[in-house]
Amino acid sequence: MTEKKRNWKPATQLVHAGTLRSEFGELSEAMFLTQGYHYKSAEQAEARFKGEEPGFIYSRYANPTVDMFEKRMCALEGAEDARATASGMAAVTAAVLCSLKAGDHIVAARALFGSCRWVVETLAPRYGIETTLVDGRQTRNWQDAVRPNTKLFFLESPTNPTLEVVDIAAVAAIANSAGARLIVDNVFATPLQQKPLELGAHVVVYSATKHIDGQGRCLGGVVLSDKKWIDENLHDYFRHTGPSMSPFNAWVLLKGLETLPLRVRQQTEAAGRIADFLAEHPKVSKLIYPGRADHPQADIIAKQMTGGSTLICFDLKGGKKPAFAFTNALDIVTISNNLGDAKSIITHPATTTHKNLAEEARAELGIGPGTLRLSVGLEDTDDLIADIEQALASA
Ligand SMILES: *Cc1c(COP(=O)(O)O)cnc(C)c1O
Repeated sequence: MTEKKRNWKPATQLVHAGTLRSEFGELSEAMFLTQGYHYKSAEQAEARFKGEEPGFIYSRYANPTVDMFEKRMCALEGAEDARATASGMAAVTAAVLCSLKAGDHIVAARALFGSCRWVVETLAPRYGIETTLVDGRQTRNWQDAVRPNTKLFFLESPTNPTLEVVDIAAVAAIANSAGARLIVDNVFATPLQQKPLELGAHVVVYSATKHIDGQGRCLGGVVLSDKKWIDENLHDYFRHTGPSMSPFNAWVLLKGLETLPLRVRQQTEAAGRIADFLAEHPKVSKLIYPGRADHPQADIIAKQMTGGSTLICFDLKGGKKPAFAFTNALDIVTISNNLGDAKSIITHPATTTHKNLAEEARAELGIGPGTLRLSVGLEDTDDLIADIEQALASA
């Protein structure tokens, strides 16, 4: 088997990086649907278990197809090491919990994907880990929340669904001076439009379910960081708690990575045009799009992102009734809660993804009864704009 690792540009890495070829010389990455591996001798088994000989032992630990996915993600992200997980939430939970113990303290942005917020706000405290949630947009809030036992900072940027951003470099500097590690959930930016590790973050997590698959086929996640942190914190946690990715899903996601730059570029361009259309529409009371000059934090976006977003957040005048009428009148755009998909998707966060938050907590995050999140897919942009226009007419 051979492994490629060179200093390629992202599009090349996404097609070739991490490829392992078996003795059959297959062109497309092979799917190794095996739970385990056999050894040529008892001595070889012993050497593998002792870690004296490289090689696979058990697919909960590592698997060649999953390995290819991890190596390709490392090349793209500029990370030393990675572990692929069964879902994005398995990646977040492993990254958050693997290095903490009772008595430690987390500072997290309050604007988080719902399940991420549950992990830090509800799950971690059950094990004696305290969490302070802050408005992550104000950098000084991170500093103010630091305690002597603060070990972890956690944020996502842009946030779901309101597309607020956090100044990652500034928060990383505060984390460093506090002796804490910063984990960034980079799903909304995609690995192409924002590089948290270069901005000073220590750990990056993804739900690969979103843009990396990009066609709504399977769940997956990945944690990326330096080799030392992964060896010392994630390695044993991962082996013994078993959040591992299935080789089948790794294969699907490897195929997804090949086309990631094409899809993200097209979806971002289309989202920019749709955002400009919506911004001018009389029924839209508020629009947030990270690619527009009127984004409230456009200066931070210019500093840390290289593209806009495939997502748009907007409010319809009049609240839930017109928001539902608009959603129901859409013909091409599908009602669902995935994102980064080939299919354009509309979500009403207040009644779905963010329904578990109290109304005040939702209001704090800028999620109102008329707020909608649009994930722009790969359909023709003119068709999408026409669809949105006709649906707005009936809202
Ligand atoms: C979807 C998502 C997750 C969770 O990922 P799953 O693959 O659904 O488990 C975490 N964070 C963000 C920002 C997401 O969009």
